[in-house]
Amino acid sequence: MRRPLVAGNWKMNGTRASVAELIEALRLQDFPAGVEVAVFPSSLHLTQVVSGLQGRAIAVGAQDCAAEAGFGALTGEESASQLVDAGASWVLVGHSERRLIMGESDEVVSKKFVAALACGMTPALCLGETLEQRQAGQTLEVVGRQLASVLAGAGVAAFEKAVVAYEPVWAIGTGLTATPQQAQEVHAAIREQLAREDRRIADGVRILYGGSVKAENAAELFEMQDIDGGLIGGASLKANDFGAICRAA
Ligand code: PGA
Repeated sequence: MRRPLVAGNWKMNGTRASVAELIEALRLQDFPAGVEVAVFPSSLHLTQVVSGLQGRAIAVGAQDCAAEAGFGALTGEESASQLVDAGASWVLVGHSERRLIMGESDEVVSKKFVAALACGMTPALCLGETLEQRQAGQTLEVVGRQLASVLAGAGVAAFEKAVVAYEPVWAIGTGLTATPQQAQEVHAAIREQLAREDRRIADGVRILYGGSVKAENAAELFEMQDIDGGLIGGASLKANDFGAICRAA
């Protein structure tokens, strides 16, 4: 019922030359028709990736957007309005690297989510706990609080046009992956929290897992009932690995 989605987060990687190579390699991959595929390059490379992937069923998104839509005096920021103009149709919101390293609060994340929707983009809302929070038994509380902030700011209806990504911080870029059961428990809790507001919307929203997903562990994760695809960091920079993960979805 929910179409699987596999998204590649390229993070702060790539030069025009290496991005051109990755585009060529992605064009040669065999992506299954039943799976939606999206890539999130640096915003510097958005127009290059959008034109390079033209004619392929791969959506292109940005990794972040400003908390305000439109245009104006905000040095160094990029608004959803500008990202749409560059050809991006998706945007990651609240990635843990932005929450923890750049100090983004739940409130700012919620505003970014709203700004993206206002510009017609599909936000992928990232949620996740740190290792300390997991060890203290606070995982569901932390993820629940992050989600509640966006629900309060945007309303449950917004989730008809958004996806959620559960990414335990301790699994990102570490080679440690949540077990399918650990991930499923959190995914089910996220869906249940949405269902308390609207069951139909909760049943339709796609919840991706992210955190050291590789070709070797993707299938067992994607098999779980509430895991509807993946948000892939490191492995998305290699077209063969990314293609294999998409074929596992
Ligand atoms: P990873 O990153 O696959 O390299 O762990 C995932 C992410 O941060 O989105």
